[in-house]
Amino acid sequence: PVRVRFAPSPTGPLHIGGVRTALFNYLFAKKHGGSFILRIEDTDQNRYVAGAEDYIIEALDWLNIPFDESPSKEAGFGPYRQSERKEMYRQYATKLLDEGKAYYAFDTPDQLNQIRKELEAEGKTFIYNWESRGSLKNSLSMDTQEVTTLLEQGTPYVVRFKMPLTEDLQLSDQVRGKMSVNTKLLDDKILFKSDGMPTYHLANIVDDHLMQISHVIRGEEWLPSLALHVLLYEAFGWKSPEFAHLPLIMKPVGKGKLSKRDGDKMGFPVFPLDWISEDGDLSSGYREAGYLPEAVVNMLALLGWNPGTEQEIFSLEELTQEFKLERVNKAGAKFDPEKTKWFQHHYFQLLDNEQLVAQLENVLKDKGITTDVELSKVIPLVKGRASFVDELYDQGNFFFTPPKDFDEKASKKAFKEDTQDIMNSVVELINTTEPFDAQNLSDVIKPWIGEQGIGFGKVMMPLRLSLVGAMKGPDVFDIAEVLGREETVRRINFAVS
Ligand code: GLU
Repeated sequence: PVRVRFAPSPTGPLHIGGVRTALFNYLFAKKHGGSFILRIEDTDQNRYVAGAEDYIIEALDWLNIPFDESPSKEAGFGPYRQSERKEMYRQYATKLLDEGKAYYAFDTPDQLNQIRKELEAEGKTFIYNWESRGSLKNSLSMDTQEVTTLLEQGTPYVVRFKMPLTEDLQLSDQVRGKMSVNTKLLDDKILFKSDGMPTYHLANIVDDHLMQISHVIRGEEWLPSLALHVLLYEAFGWKSPEFAHLPLIMKPVGKGKLSKRDGDKMGFPVFPLDWISEDGDLSSGYREAGYLPEAVVNMLALLGWNPGTEQEIFSLEELTQEFKLERVNKAGAKFDPEKTKWFQHHYFQLLDNEQLVAQLENVLKDKGITTDVELSKVIPLVKGRASFVDELYDQGNFFFTPPKDFDEKASKKAFKEDTQDIMNSVVELINTTEPFDAQNLSDVIKPWIGEQGIGFGKVMMPLRLSLVGAMKGPDVFDIAEVLGREETVRRINFAVS
């Protein structure tokens, strides 16, 4: 069965790159009727940030891509936090040690730094590997007695993987295809430390194996670890899962990876939800900025995946059907905040008007604005120009607050000497139009303008300015209908007197 996992380290809020990884895992699992698992990789207690795990779960719930298994949804493969699995890892390090596939190393960080510096002075780089390990302080270079003594004395150590020498190790990735790596260039990575904690590499492999993960789908930044991981599976004699490394998400402009700073600078969220750091800094999230989860999911799905057609709008359901790892791109995916707004606009239009009435009511309440205007009539007129609830207000504020002053440039064009007379006649027409609605107003006023031979602008411009305050907004007769006869007339009189 397909079992995939999202394995974040709880070191802070989830960046949208992380959400994209989670989404692709979710889509792959659902497409194949498999399970989507959350595993918290919290072995590095120094970088642990309180609240990060809750944030991850809340964010994915908001996006409607919930986990099938997680720390609070145990399904026989737990615990799902590595800190709670701590006791399991030592035996695996010991197994590799016993089989000569790993070794103890006693070099202190200071000693290694010293060597690194000396080599750098000669223009060389230091790698702890087959070339150097023989001259360093480890169980491959020391005699057994010495090693035993050091261990008995409680000397701090690390367990390193003895990277086997192969000219070229064949690797395969569902996105990248076949690759070969010369293991001579790789280092003997640390697997376990004497404080009893495994490193990411050991814990990750052991857990993927024990949790029966079938496919590892993760960011491209882990591609350099693929050789080590594949060799670890071999060393344990375990079947390795399939791997798929997702392309990086790039800045909207310029080169390089998308960072939080790009978002701050250009004013778009890079997190799914707001995150307030300990020092009170707010990083804004899509949810609080008013984005719909459907829009964010749709946008993220196309960051590095393509359906092979021109289709851009996908529901979660459709994505689940269409998603294929073979259609994940190799090239980095440029993040486009404008495109995100475009998706948002699309999904915003699908919201039902009743729901928007309720939300607009809240906005008005927050602003302390009361109005007699029927919001259910305003919504259809302004919705098409809005992508967020706040924009419903921005687009329709003149419905609730009569204009006090008028756009200066437009006024010069619209308000002429004869305007007052013309508008007095228009008011008479308005007062006698029955019933008072947009269609009737248009049917009465437009022919009248024709008969007078005065040109459309002479009436329509002052009319719009009177009602709106500027030359913008929906159809002017629609506006009049929503405002009602009395208010329409009041606004015209105020404007032209
Ligand atoms: N804990 C790793 C991370 O934070 C997981 C990498 C992986 O999926 O193997 O990205």
